[in-house]
Amino acid sequence: MAISEFGLIQRFFTTPLIVNPVNKLGVGDDCALMSIPDGYELAVTVDTMVEGVHFFAGANPRQLGRKLLAVNLSDLAAMGAAPVSVTLALTLPEVNESWLQAFSQGFLDLAKSYSVDLVGGDTTKGPLTLTVQAMGLVPKGKALKRSGAKVGDLIFVTGSGLGDSGLGLKVEQGYSCEYSEWVLQKFHTPDPRVSEGIEIRQYASSCIDLSDGLASDLPHILGKSSVGATLDWGKLPLSKAVKQYVELTGDWAMPLTAGEDYELCFTVAPADLDAINIECTQVGVIEPLEGLRVRRMGNVGELEVTGFEHFC
Ligand code: ADP
Ligand code: MG
Repeated sequence: MAISEFGLIQRFFTTPLIVNPVNKLGVGDDCALMSIPDGYELAVTVDTMVEGVHFFAGANPRQLGRKLLAVNLSDLAAMGAAPVSVTLALTLPEVNESWLQAFSQGFLDLAKSYSVDLVGGDTTKGPLTLTVQAMGLVPKGKALKRSGAKVGDLIFVTGSGLGDSGLGLKVEQGYSCEYSEWVLQKFHTPDPRVSEGIEIRQYASSCIDLSDGLASDLPHILGKSSVGATLDWGKLPLSKAVKQYVELTGDWAMPLTAGEDYELCFTVAPADLDAINIECTQVGVIEPLEGLRVRRMGNVGELEVTGFEHFC
């Protein structure tokens, strides 16, 4: 007999122990209960991944479970919040136990490594759609926002490879590349920059995570902060894989326009530069003239890019 909805939740999505002391009641009641410590605010985010839109049909379920959680933790990281709990809404076309086993393992292994509890969710039948709501704590008034960048601030990105994930997607679509193993790993198993987000909370003036590409995401900081910026293409942290791709194809904009790097982009005032204590690269500067420009080989040009748009 097929497993029931409650059997499914019990078997795959109920962890025996709550690990984070914020969580007072987890899966199994009508609501979860959380107790927010004095002096903290709750940061809340939700993201949905739809089969055929955000991931390929037949995607590896373990990687998918991990990535679904990672992209939500990345949003918390961008606010400087420490993740504590998540809820999971699953719409499944069928009950496939081996798929559920692998998916929940990918999801729960990453949750465990961040001491995040899965405290509730919803399970329904329909086209494969995966939604996670993630919650994190941030000291009152200390959350990093998009709106704090000031003229003269320097722009940084974490990590060492903008565009690696985008190149991984191209490899999935048939592009052949000497470094395919590396870029596929970046595409399928991104690491959310949680500890970096918490560290830079001390000195960053604004922050965003890179889900759509620097050229699409940085303008959100620029718009909210009413400033502009020039990026220095030569300073972008690029892996051997992306450097080789740009040399072979001439597609120099790819590391700026490809999505899913899940690095943090943040700004720091010149007076606070000595405080920086994470691996990051300065890639540009905030300027009074609105808009985003790129300096490359001595020329400065406007970069008009729009990220992925669901409804156009
Ligand atoms: P209700 O009908 O009261 O909303 P449900 O029958 O949907 O409750 O869910 C029963 C319990 O299982 C609830 O605690 C809910 O949060 C949890 N739950 C349901 N689906 C999931 C899931 N995919 N992952 C984690 N918890 C889940
Ligand atoms: Mg329900």
